[in-house]
Amino acid sequence: MKSDCIFCKIVAGQLPACKVYEDAETLAFMDIGPIVPGHTLVIPKLHIDPLTAAPPAILQKLILVVQNIARAQLSAFKADGVNVIQANGRAAGQVVPHLHFHVIPRFATDGHHWNWKPHPYAKSEEMSALAEKIKGALG
Ligand code: AMP
Ligand code: ZN
Repeated sequence: MKSDCIFCKIVAGQLPACKVYEDAETLAFMDIGPIVPGHTLVIPKLHIDPLTAAPPAILQKLILVVQNIARAQLSAFKADGVNVIQANGRAAGQVVPHLHFHVIPRFATDGHHWNWKPHPYAKSEEMSALAEKIKGALG
């Protein structure tokens, strides 16, 4: 546990949370600032951050819980879709530095729009060069 981490405090029972699922390694609870009602967070009980530091076994467990929550949102709310979002680092919009997946039920009428503005590459070589860099850095 990291003493100044709000999600660790939720795991330890030092802060309240509206829990929807719990097992030995993972916890899912309602986000107090939902983008759409029903917005749920899935976290590891251990203080892990960022995603790239997560042990594979915990990551496998987490993504299965994410899938289960998404299925539950689709059936319980009759949602039209689900967004799964995960941020790493302040530049990526992360506010709470404890690994978490946002599982957000979506409805055709929910009125939420991502500010998703494509910036096409000026030249295809630019894209290929970046692809090569990623390929060269893969573990
Ligand atoms: P992120 O920007 O990906 O770090 O998202 C952090 C999320 O945690 C936000 O959506 C917040 O609304 C949510 N959040 C912060 N504090 C709490 C809390 N005590 N209980 C539930 N959700 C929280
Ligand atoms: Zn933590």
